[in-house]
Amino acid sequence: MNTINSSNFLLPNIADKLCSYQKERVSLMINDFIEINKQMDSYHFEYCPKCGAYHPVLVKAGKTKAGKQMLKCNACNKRFVCDHGQLTFYSHQSQAKWNDLIIQTQNGNSILKTAAKINVNEFTAFRMRHKYLHFIEVMEYPIQAYERD
Ligand SMILES: [Zn+2]
Repeated sequence: MNTINSSNFLLPNIADKLCSYQKERVSLMINDFIEINKQMDSYHFEYCPKCGAYHPVLVKAGKTKAGKQMLKCNACNKRFVCDHGQLTFYSHQSQAKWNDLIIQTQNGNSILKTAAKINVNEFTAFRMRHKYLHFIEVMEYPIQAYERD
């Protein structure tokens, strides 16, 4: 990835008033925002994380205080943050259940068996497995996964 020089973002009269570490921070922040927007444009939600709608129609719906892009699902009208960097993000399930789900998935156990083991319903287990497998895919093939979407 290209490192973007802070001088690309700052007017010379502003850049002159900042220390180099401050310019560096501004530059990192801007890079983060650009990255968030890029992910927002390329990431495709198979299911709405709020209502579980399959292939939901999502529209941009403002930003959080932290600058994260929010999306709104047309099916349920609920908003959520576009952040798929963490497996447990926007999950109501605990880390312990996720750990069990990963083990069950790696062992090739069925959705039904997995659901029973971690005490969630089949649909939740299915969504969790799907999210996990997608996460693994993005981790292993980040460029292909983004381009395909
Ligand atoms: Zn929804």
